[in-house]
Amino acid sequence: MRVVFAGGGVIALLTALECLSAGHEVVLADQADIPFSGATSFDRHRVLRASQAGDPATTAAAVGAHHAWIELEHRLATSFYEQVGALTALPAPEAAAARELLTAAGSKAEVLGADELAAEFPHAGFVPGTGAIFESHAGVLLADRVLTACATRLRWHANAELHPHRKVTGIDADRAEVRLADGETLRGDAVLVAAGPWSRELLAPALSRELVLHRQTMLYCDVPPADAAAWAATPAITSLGSDGGAWLVPPVAGTPLKLSAASACRVVDEIGGATVPSWWREHLIDTFATLIPGFRRDWLVDTRDCHYLARRSTLGPMLAVLGDRVLTYAACGGSSFKFAPLIARSLAARLTGADPVTTGLEPLDRPLVRAGGAHPIRPALRGVS
Ligand SMILES: Cc1cc2nc3c(=O)[nH]c(=O)nc-3n(C[C@H](O)[C@H](O)[C@H](O)COP(=O)(O)OP(=O)(O)OC[C@H]3O[C@@H](n4cnc5c(N)ncnc54)[C@H](O)[C@@H]3O)c2cc1C
Repeated sequence: MRVVFAGGGVIALLTALECLSAGHEVVLADQADIPFSGATSFDRHRVLRASQAGDPATTAAAVGAHHAWIELEHRLATSFYEQVGALTALPAPEAAAARELLTAAGSKAEVLGADELAAEFPHAGFVPGTGAIFESHAGVLLADRVLTACATRLRWHANAELHPHRKVTGIDADRAEVRLADGETLRGDAVLVAAGPWSRELLAPALSRELVLHRQTMLYCDVPPADAAAWAATPAITSLGSDGGAWLVPPVAGTPLKLSAASACRVVDEIGGATVPSWWREHLIDTFATLIPGFRRDWLVDTRDCHYLARRSTLGPMLAVLGDRVLTYAACGGSSFKFAPLIARSLAARLTGADPVTTGLEPLDRPLVRAGGAHPIRPALRGVS
């Protein structure tokens, strides 16, 4: 089979690799470079933690994703998973319950009390009295390295065609073909539209109305040399602060410390650039000045805004079936990077007619079925591949 991809982010790249492994041909078109530094997937890091308090299915899926990333590192002979650990701040009884879920899912974690946290991570600024669950073998995926490794593997594979700087302008779900801005048409036996935050442009209004665009600000910091060793030994930390909404990614493998918070995420109408408006930069500086002891604005070395789509009703991802073997992973939500290997296996199976493995992730296991979900291509404009 020949599978055509619209988009070249982590979802399309990993799904294309899965299709190749199953003996199929892949053709992948992106509007920009492959990988594209403006894509949602493209950043220094993404966090992979398994604990999802109160949610056994997602916890088990995340444990599966952890193993799948390690397998992928071996397959691509590249290292991009820094297992520095992940700490989720939780009240003590919830931390114990979260540990039980992890144990049931075949993983393990430690419950840390407030005193242990304060003693081990004095530089991270936990709210007094907070406990946490610590997953020692979770950690950080070096996102830009993942994308480069996948794109390089595809570029050199005889059964893969990459088309950077070829924007897709329409999908014909009945014919399994995509139309490019230059008038050419890429035909396949199956199509995956994985265009990240730009997906709405390719979908019919009824479907795109279900998707909400978010914009999030991030700060990148160099820590003071005196604290560098402590920060280098710090796990990824989520649920920081009294409202649990802030998070940090430690400076692993030569990357900067990354800081952000749920309060720096807002709903927007359009995709803007990556440049951070000063109000949002100052908001995060003020937030972390109250969270991290000794934090100063001169730690800042960079800032960036990033966009993603989420489904209106769930605020999570959305997979929709547009036609026979024509799918769109239209919204990624806030955690599709860590699940990408599982998402890719499921999508590749659906695209190539194999039985999709159950992932435990509801949006993937029970996709929306939407005939007419793609913008129609006017027949007179069809080109040839
Ligand atoms: C601030 C932030 C932090 C996050 N942190 C985490 C985390 O810690 N852990 C986690 O698991 N997830 C995290 N996520 C979510 C994760 O990054 C995304 O779920 C994932 O990267 C989405 O990948 P994608 O392939 O769907 O989209 P993208 O990476 O955006 O890829 C889409 C691609 O499609 C291309 N494209 C778009 N339109 C067209 C077109 N018309 N024609 C051709 N090509 C097109 C684009 O150029 C782009 O390359 C975070 C997201 C954000 C915004």
